[in-house]
Amino acid sequence: MTIAIDFDGVIHAYSKGWHDGTIYDKPMPDALTALEELMQRDAVFIHTTRNPRQVARWIERKSWHDIDCTTHLPRTWYGRRKPFWNTRGLLLVTNLKLPAVAYLDDRAVRFHDWEQALTALGITPRLLDCGWCYEEWGEEVHPHPECPQGAATAEQGAPTDWQAIVRDRERELKTAQQQVQDGLAVIREWQRDGESNEYLTRVHKALNPPVSGTSAGAAL
Ligand SMILES: [Mg+2]
Repeated sequence: MTIAIDFDGVIHAYSKGWHDGTIYDKPMPDALTALEELMQRDAVFIHTTRNPRQVARWIERKSWHDIDCTTHLPRTWYGRRKPFWNTRGLLLVTNLKLPAVAYLDDRAVRFHDWEQALTALGITPRLLDCGWCYEEWGEEVHPHPECPQGAATAEQGAPTDWQAIVRDRERELKTAQQQVQDGLAVIREWQRDGESNEYLTRVHKALNPPVSGTSAGAAL
């Protein structure tokens, strides 16, 4: 088996990105021991856009020459470079994309089909399991009016504070009662001032219905 390994971000920590083009950072934790381990089992090559010799020297230096590197693909008897790498125990560093059973890369997006790939790249929004709504900015939201999950979350999202509703209604009732009392007081004043008329008396009666046989209006 042949394994292809990316260099920047996988072997080289690459914390500042490309920066000035030098290999400025430390190896990723466990990178060199993992490389050695893999190289005992499989043919391994480093696949990089950098100058392969620069990378090969860096790996040899950092591994105290435990890892042997080459930048040369073997040639066929007629001088053409073999288009594959199948040597164990020697690390090839190349800028060619050679065949491999696996490519280890910090920027890889695994391809299954184009629909999945465009979704993974954020080109097509992902349809959520409800079948109605799409992912928005990486979050599952269910704004579709026919989405049952959206309705369920809306109910859950705003728990009803029944006590607050009762308190509000009680307050409104008290205010209304006070307004009626104020109105009655005004009517009484008008009546005292001799402004009483049939209409005011009727209003007063309507607002202050007779209690236990006596007319409140009559008490005035
Ligand atoms: Mg990389």
